[in-house]
Amino acid sequence: MTGVVILGATGSIGASTLEVAALHAGRFEVVGLAARANDAAMAGLCQRFRPRYAALLDPAAGQRLRARLAEAGPATEVLSGPDALTAIATVPEAGIVVAGIVGAAGLAPTLAAARAGKRILLANKEALVLAGPLLIEAARQSGAELLPIDSEHNAVFQCLPGPLPGRPTAGVRRILLTASGGPFLATPRQRLADVTPEQAVAHPTWRMGPKISVDSATLMNKGLEVIEACHLFGVAPDQVSVVIHPQSIVHSMVEYVDGSVLAQLGQPDMRTPIAHALGWPERLASGVTPLDLVQVANLSFEAPDLERFPCLRLAGLAARAGGTAPAVLNAANEVAVQAFLERRLNFGGIAPVIEAVLQRHSTEPVKRLEDALAADAWGRAEAERQLLNARVALA
Ligand code: MG
Repeated sequence: MTGVVILGATGSIGASTLEVAALHAGRFEVVGLAARANDAAMAGLCQRFRPRYAALLDPAAGQRLRARLAEAGPATEVLSGPDALTAIATVPEAGIVVAGIVGAAGLAPTLAAARAGKRILLANKEALVLAGPLLIEAARQSGAELLPIDSEHNAVFQCLPGPLPGRPTAGVRRILLTASGGPFLATPRQRLADVTPEQAVAHPTWRMGPKISVDSATLMNKGLEVIEACHLFGVAPDQVSVVIHPQSIVHSMVEYVDGSVLAQLGQPDMRTPIAHALGWPERLASGVTPLDLVQVANLSFEAPDLERFPCLRLAGLAARAGGTAPAVLNAANEVAVQAFLERRLNFGGIAPVIEAVLQRHSTEPVKRLEDALAADAWGRAEAERQLLNARVALA
């Protein structure tokens, strides 16, 4: 039995992982579940999966979870507070840690799991975007396995000769990341500025949380994935191209110097990359319906329009600048997207806020976790200032 800890258990990655793990109950034991603050959902998961540990970042939610579980029965030890996620990510019972928590909150526990030598199923973007070199180096030193479960990076991983991400990839000319283009691929550009949060989170092919759905609509998600790919696969930003592929069937490709292009295809369903990484190098059933290419019939590809999707251009700038620039890009984006979801900023305002923050940033190298966290904090504060300026300008 391999013990599994899931960071982000109440989100969509958590739900998909629990479904796949339940198909292989004799092979995987869910030993720990962690989330931010949703004690009601966590109580339900603890009842069903009976993990040894549950962790909530929010201390008050942790108290409520203790009370819920005291009534209902499972003998789950509840951890809470700022160090709870790191504690649960390093428990000796876990061989696998699923880093599925969204945002910078996932960074420290993911790094801790890497230092502890776990197999990490990596969905948290921030760990690579903020501190990619630190995470790769920690994994290299401890022997931890970093297996991407973001569908694109998992696809690239499947198309590479291996053995593991983070190592030089001889013979690779380019990585081609596919992007669905999100819900606004065909929306007239003048109407893009005022689309609502409800329209932005209605993704055409993937079911995901609200933050990542907005990032898919702006293509910032793809921009962050370019940065991730550079770290994971040891390639330069100019070796990563983005291709719009609205059907989300080809999950990404690798082009080799001999002209070969290898692609991974499948249903747009996170259970496939999760099952791949849980079982790797074995193949495990995922519960996903087989892909019927005759029914899909057509696969189309086009170049991204950087004027329609300025966030993709900004991410490219940050990727080339390196150092703290990606952390600042990510922080400004998180603040801007939150403001959009709360209707404090319109959709067309997201990219200008990020651009203004990047312009005010002078890039420094990331040598320690503190450097990344300081850049993250600076980016957030500067983005809040830009939001305030934007509101003053509107009033
Ligand atoms: Mg993705």
